[in-house]
Amino acid sequence: MGSHGVDAVLRLASLEQYIKNYPPANAERDFSFETISLLQSTLEQTYGPRGGRGLALRVGRACFKYGLKEYGSMLGLTEMAFRLLSLRTKLSSGTKSFANLFNHHTDQIVRVEEKDNKIFWHIERCPLCWERTADEPVCHLAVGLIQESLYWLSGGKVFDVRETTCVAKGDSDCTIEIDTVPFS
Ligand SMILES: [Zn+2]
Repeated sequence: MGSHGVDAVLRLASLEQYIKNYPPANAERDFSFETISLLQSTLEQTYGPRGGRGLALRVGRACFKYGLKEYGSMLGLTEMAFRLLSLRTKLSSGTKSFANLFNHHTDQIVRVEEKDNKIFWHIERCPLCWERTADEPVCHLAVGLIQESLYWLSGGKVFDVRETTCVAKGDSDCTIEIDTVPFS
C-alpha cells in the first residue's frame, strides 16, 4: 500500500490520530475491535472487494512475520524438540499454542478443533468482522495470518486455508478451515 495508501485508509476511516503515529507494540488492550473491523471494511472500500481482500491477506501474513513470530520462542515452537516432531503434530500443537496466545493476550476467543485431515480454527469472538454484515466471509486477515504461521511452522510448506463460516454473514462463529496435507 505504501505509507500514502495507509494514510489514505486511516483518513477515510476517520482514524487520523494514527497517521504516522502507530500504536505501540505492547500487550495493552487499547486497540479496539471496532477499530480493527473498521480498518478491514475501509480497505475494501478503498481498493474494492477483491483488492481489499488481497491486501488483508497480505496484512495477515505480515502480522505473523513481524509480530506473532516473536512469540514463537516463548511458546517453545522453535526448540529442537519441537522441530523434530512430525508435521501433523507440529500443526496440532502449533495451532493450539497460537490459539492460547490469542485467548490469553487479547479479547479474541479461538477454539481449535481437529477432524480427519482438517484443523478448524473457530474464532468465537472475532475482531475482524466485529459488527459487520456481509454476504461472503470477510476475515481475510486471519486467513493470511494462519497461512504464514503454517508456512513457518512447517519449514516452508503451503496449505489450503480458507474461511468457511463468518459471523458477518450470520454464522455463529468465523471458521478458518485448514487442510493439513500441504500443497508442496
Ligand atoms: Zn470474523
